[in-house]
Amino acid sequence: MNKGFDTLRYGSQGAGVRRLQLALCRAGFSDDDPDGEFGNSTVKAVRLFRAAHGLEPSGEADSAVFELANVYLEGFIRVRLKPRDTFYRLGKKFGVSADAVAAANPGLDPADLSQGREAVIPLPFAVTPKKTPIDSALAACAVRGLAARYPFIRLEEYGKSVLGRPLFALSFGRGKELLISAAVHANEWITATLLLDFAESIAGAYAGRGTFQGRSAAALLSRVRLTLCPLANPDGVDLVTGALPRGAYEAARRIAEGHPDLPFPSGWKANISGVDLNLNFPVRHGAALAAKRPLGVSGPAPRDWAGEAALCAPETSALADLTKRLDPFAVIALHTQGGEVLWKSDLEEAPAGAERMAEAMAEAAGYEARTVESEHANGGWRDWFAAEFRRPGFTVEAGRGANPLPLSQYGELRAEVFPLIVTAMRLAQ
Ligand SMILES: [Zn+2]
Repeated sequence: MNKGFDTLRYGSQGAGVRRLQLALCRAGFSDDDPDGEFGNSTVKAVRLFRAAHGLEPSGEADSAVFELANVYLEGFIRVRLKPRDTFYRLGKKFGVSADAVAAANPGLDPADLSQGREAVIPLPFAVTPKKTPIDSALAACAVRGLAARYPFIRLEEYGKSVLGRPLFALSFGRGKELLISAAVHANEWITATLLLDFAESIAGAYAGRGTFQGRSAAALLSRVRLTLCPLANPDGVDLVTGALPRGAYEAARRIAEGHPDLPFPSGWKANISGVDLNLNFPVRHGAALAAKRPLGVSGPAPRDWAGEAALCAPETSALADLTKRLDPFAVIALHTQGGEVLWKSDLEEAPAGAERMAEAMAEAAGYEARTVESEHANGGWRDWFAAEFRRPGFTVEAGRGANPLPLSQYGELRAEVFPLIVTAMRLAQ
């Protein structure tokens, strides 16, 4: 969770502290929401955590603490089965239901838990962090946790970012393929939280043979195979949420110096090289470059630069390859903000069913279905998908306000976007 294994102590600040605080909170040693400030209450929580794990007394978080605390970010542990272990007893020991243990271990026969075999135990909390901004390390823990808790989820690394961070896709269900991306724009990172939470919520309902948004999760997932890319621009998100190492942060700050009108880093949308990923797809790419020149953008920038060439960014070329390989019936790009479902540009013929889907999705969220003016339909993932596949592609501008939308709006966003995605699943054809 803290790759450099720098010891964190009183006075430390930043994303590493935030992750530590989240782990301490989930482990039951703190009631405070993570704030990234290592103060007296964090010292106290670390002392308690160390004592409970038999580490020497100290208020500092060193590599031994990180190793143990990481379990609470991934949300599961592996145990060796002992004589007389049952799913019920294991669950009781760790505070989860026998059903949750069974769901995480489809390869184990509950009537024959042979001693010495390994079992995955989900821990009693959701793995998607909803009270602290997401970063690539937290997202990596969350996707590993989801794949371990729900083995029907296929976790794939479909590429790497400029800084070598993994690009993750989660797939589950069977039927028509629906591909959803989030956090293509760095300061719209709250969409990553939304998509991880969506995956966790529907997977939990499916594993428990329950309902999701008032529908049978099994029925929804027999119509549609979901592939979710929750963090399409991990470096950019790490910049905005304070999780980049200093060197990369400074390089981005130098790019941003040419655009003093934009707040830094909160106004950053691009990848870490200054390419706006939603202008970098191979559809009218030249127009995407030309349209932003009058705005003073003709090179790497916090937003609005389409890049030297279409798909020059590893994040877009990986997402384009994934899209081609999956050949989805529809795609949804989660962005913020505006309360809109954008479904067609003036330059396109409407694909069959797209308008009806857009109207229904918008209605489910309390948003408006809208077409895109042609000057805004260049180089986007949705624009490219519509042109290349001639199937329904949607850009959802979730929520209202100014980016980055704060976590205080999270409940509202969730209540809008979850029904919207379920509506898209129901209308799969
Ligand atoms: Zn956006």
